[in-house]
Amino acid sequence: MDRWIVGNWKMNGSLPELTAFADGLRRAAPGGWGARGVKVAVCPPFPYLAATQRAFEGMPLGVGAQNVHPAASGAFTGEISTKMLKEVGAQLCIVGHSERRAQFHESNAFIGEKLRALLDAGIRPILCVGETLAEREGGKQAAVVQEQLDGCLRGTAAASSAALLIAYEPVWAIGTGRTASAAQAQEMHASIRAWLETQWGKTAAQSVPLMYGGSVTAQNAAGLFAEPDVQGALVGGASLKADSFLGIINSALR
Ligand code: PEP
Repeated sequence: MDRWIVGNWKMNGSLPELTAFADGLRRAAPGGWGARGVKVAVCPPFPYLAATQRAFEGMPLGVGAQNVHPAASGAFTGEISTKMLKEVGAQLCIVGHSERRAQFHESNAFIGEKLRALLDAGIRPILCVGETLAEREGGKQAAVVQEQLDGCLRGTAAASSAALLIAYEPVWAIGTGRTASAAQAQEMHASIRAWLETQWGKTAAQSVPLMYGGSVTAQNAAGLFAEPDVQGALVGGASLKADSFLGIINSALR
């Protein structure tokens, strides 16, 4: 299975920084990533989607969004539809990020609606799941993540597995510099894979790339990718500069 390296810029960056980032990647002559089993994409803030698409022209770099609204159109001030995302070239979209769950009170049911709207529109959802520090200290990490999977994916057809990406992102590891160990990531990814199998059967479950997110850097990426159920990374801070992002991409090349 291909490995996926996706950058989540969150509410960071600027047009000059986008140009510097694209120039840095271009200098690295990224022609060979696909042939070496790695797919790469970046999710900038909404206003930069079209410019990012243009800046990445000729490079094997996809563009994704960080959020979407499930409705097709209407009175949803400040929101963006799947159709709008498609028009500016978004191929992927993050849903269920812990920052949106915590700060914008998004429920599993609402995240599930977004996910199904994306699937219907032909945009690949990256579904984020993960436990808080208190939940891990209470030994509840697997149960919490299964509840999130259940709430977001129940009722979604097995065929969705062909488009879905899942990112396991322990909340205590996001932006903290404290990465899950490779063994901790593998244990959770195996449990996510087992849950998918109960829903969709083995073949479909095996086809879903499971990415790890939470303080991934060029230094710790290779250890994570060596695990059998870790097929890539969702990268926050280290995706903002070409050099650090390239280091992670290079660790994923086969
Ligand atoms: C993220 O925001 O999805 C993330 C993993 O951030 P960081 O890499 O900065 O921990």
